Amino acid sequence: MQISSNVLDLPSFNFYQMKVFNTRKEVFTFINATKNSNKTIGYVPTMGALHQGHASLVEQSIAENNITIVSVFVNPTQFDNASDLDKYPRNLDEDINLIKKINPSIVIFAPTAKELYQNNVASKKYSFDGLEHEMEGKYRAGHFDGVGTVLELFFSLITPTNAYFGEKDFQQLQIVKKLASKYNLGVNIIGCEIFREQSGLAMSSRNERLSPEGRQEAAFINKTLLKAKELFNLKSASKVEEWVSKEFSKSKNFNLEYVSIANTETLKPVKRKSKKQQYRIFIAVFIDNIRLIDNIALN
Ligand code: AMP
Repeated sequence: MQISSNVLDLPSFNFYQMKVFNTRKEVFTFINATKNSNKTIGYVPTMGALHQGHASLVEQSIAENNITIVSVFVNPTQFDNASDLDKYPRNLDEDINLIKKINPSIVIFAPTAKELYQNNVASKKYSFDGLEHEMEGKYRAGHFDGVGTVLELFFSLITPTNAYFGEKDFQQLQIVKKLASKYNLGVNIIGCEIFREQSGLAMSSRNERLSPEGRQEAAFINKTLLKAKELFNLKSASKVEEWVSKEFSKSKNFNLEYVSIANTETLKPVKRKSKKQQYRIFIAVFIDNIRLIDNIALN
């Protein structure tokens, strides 16, 4: 996917004072002031360490709304692994600079966990009608409860018209759509295409933690998914999954966690192909002990 500009190369607009809120009260006051103006609010939730994948969501929100709010918050309740949470890259100053270069009128909300959760940093329990039990749900206990909890909090504070999510986290996107419709949250959930590095590697904040060699090698993930897509025209889903597993087992630098060819709506694994259904292939793989995920449409 192309975006209009390479935001990282633009000069910064230092003469503009950006709105960077840290408290719920500041957001509440700002949103209240816009209430009677009929302005649409676009919202982009992020965990920071922003890159051009995030920027593409922000640009879409700017194009489609009067006001855009970006949250930068590493949400503790969606991590099941303390060291992963610890090592998650954080650099708010760089994030603010990147956003400022896209458009200095964007509002940033970067609360602490204590501020956002009001001292009760814990997940609610959700049912997403089975979507939460597939793929990531099998390997990241409680992950989607954490995602649901934090998004409900953000949605209730920001009251967005539209909220933007990447297909990079396709299962999350489907779960957020379910969250919004099942619990009547009054927000349109908009899915955005995956933004990739030139090598095909899906952009991710975690890519920063890869060694230079690891980053090069990680291009193998998308290349393999593209070959799997060709193979899917000829072979069953299980044969294609087997082939992908074999490809990854050939290199000792990769540790494949799962590969799944699944129905796009239900996320259930495909048993028998049907021309009427849409399918995607999903993958989670460790390289340099960093967990990367990717997916592509198969038909
Ligand atoms: P994160 O900061 O990783 O939680 O991501 C925040 C949002 O950006 C999520 O909706 C992600 O799916 C989306 N996102 C992350 N990387 C990409 C990418 N490479 N292309 C498109 N969207 C992305």
